[in-house]
Parts: sequence; structure tokens; C-alpha cells
Amino acid sequence: MSIKVILITGASSGIGEATARRLAADGHQVVLGARRIDRLKALAEELIAAGGAAEFQELDVTDLESFRAFTAGAHDRHGRIDVLVNNAGVMPLSTLDALRVEDWNQMIDVNLRGTLHGIASVLPIMRAQGYGHIVNVASTSAYRVDPTAAVYCATKFAVRAVSEGLRQENTDVRVTVVSPGFTRSELTDRGGDPDVRAAVQAASDELAIPASAVADAIGYAIAQPANVDVSELIVRPTAQR
Ligand code: NDP
Repeated sequence: MSIKVILITGASSGIGEATARRLAADGHQVVLGARRIDRLKALAEELIAAGGAAEFQELDVTDLESFRAFTAGAHDRHGRIDVLVNNAGVMPLSTLDALRVEDWNQMIDVNLRGTLHGIASVLPIMRAQGYGHIVNVASTSAYRVDPTAAVYCATKFAVRAVSEGLRQENTDVRVTVVSPGFTRSELTDRGGDPDVRAAVQAASDELAIPASAVADAIGYAIAQPANVDVSELIVRPTAQR
């Protein structure tokens, strides 16, 4: 298997961290991005100590210049970017009538705008190379809407729409949407209506699959030959409705 240069956003916890572990174990060069750089540093050191190739750079996906610096740094160091995993996301849930407009904007900024910033940063590089792979982490919430999750679902439906457009417009860049169901991570630890958060945490505690299950799906899509595009994967607990 060829060694790839793989950029992962939101690598400081949950699915991004598990994906970094899986891809580093597969022998790839991983470049970790997030805001909590103490976490990224500790993870990179751990992966290197285990024989892997890992580095990290501070990244705020809501800031296009930050994303451009993240991709340009990796490109300068390695001369190419094989894969971008757009994984960073937030989920502060509430009913619409709670009017938590700041939470709405944060979900739009991180989940949707952040994914678009990733595409804007890496697509010119991949088009110039004549190859590349963009993996966008959506959700089962990209396929169905539930109460308290309207805006979160809207961002994830949008990520799927953007991914499909990107796929149709490019014949040399692979595009994969990976959509997890309940997965153990820190996603429900922050923000949103406290009562909703407690209810979602309880459901997640009962059902959630390990983040490594989603990382394995991402690893599978990346491992396919260049002319094989795994367009969509849904990975969820067997017991999730
Ligand atoms: P976590 O909260 O554990 O991880 C989210 C990651 O996103 C963190 O590393 C965080 O890093 C990063 N992040 C948040 N805001 C920003 C930002 N502005 N710039 C850069 N990084 C940011 O949750 P998950 O691992 O579960 O989430 C990963 C993805 O999986 C998300 O897109 C989520 O929507 C999706 N998902 C998760 C499901 C689940 O049940 N866990 C189900 C379906 C989809 P930091 O704070 O250090 O910047």
C-alpha cells in the first residue's frame, strides 16, 4: 500500500483522533489539525513513539486563512496532499424556538463553512497534482431530521450536497461522505440546551459505537485504488433506529 499524506481536522478528540490512530498505524503520514494544540501535541508524540509519522498544526476551520496555512504548511513539507479528512464538527442542540442563534451560527460556521474552507484550501492543490481525496464526515443526521437537531441536520444535509457536487465536478479527485450514527466522542459535552444535551448523552451512552468503527470506514475508503470512489458510507449502532 502506498504511503499517503493525510490531513485530518478535529483530530484532538473523538472520531478525528481515532482516525489519526488508524491511519498512522496503516503507515501514512498524518497531519493533525484542531484548536486544542496541547491535545494534538500529545497525540502526535504518542503516534511517533509507536513508530508512526505524525505532525500537527493549530487550525480553526471557521477561518479560511487558518485553513490555507494548514494545507500550505503540509504541502510545503511533503510536496503533495493525498487526502483531506474534513471531520471537525459541533452539535449544540436545541429546539428552534429557543432562538439560540449563536449556536446555529457556530454549527453553520464549523460544520458547513469549515468543510467548504477545507475544499477551498485543498482543491487547487489536488487539481494541480491530478489526484486527491476529500473525505467529509457528515452524519445519519444528513439523511433525517429530528426535533432539536434542525440546524445541525441542515448543516449535515448541506455537507452531503456539497460533497455530491464536488464529486460530479471532478474526475481526478475522489470524494467520500462518511456518516456516523451515535459514536463515543466529546460531541455532546459542549453547548446547546442542557436538557437536550442530557437526553442525547443518555441515548448515546446506551447505544454508541467506538470512534474506531468510524475510523475504520474512513481507512477503508482511503485504501481503495485511485479509480475506485467510495462515495458514501453510513456506520451506526445496530440498535439505532
Ligand atoms: P468531538 O467533539 O470529540 O470532536 C470534534 C472535533 O472538532 C474536535 O477535535 C474539535 O477540536 C474540532 N473542532 C471543533 N470546532 C473546531 C474549529 N472551529 N476548528 C477546528 N476544529 C474544530 O466529536 P466527534 O468526534 O463525534 O465529531 C467529529 C465529527 O463527527 C463531527 O463532524 C460530528 O458532527 C460527526 N458526527 C459525530 C457523531 C457522534 O455521535 N459522535 C455522529 C454523527 C456525526 P478543538 O475543539 O480542539 O478545535
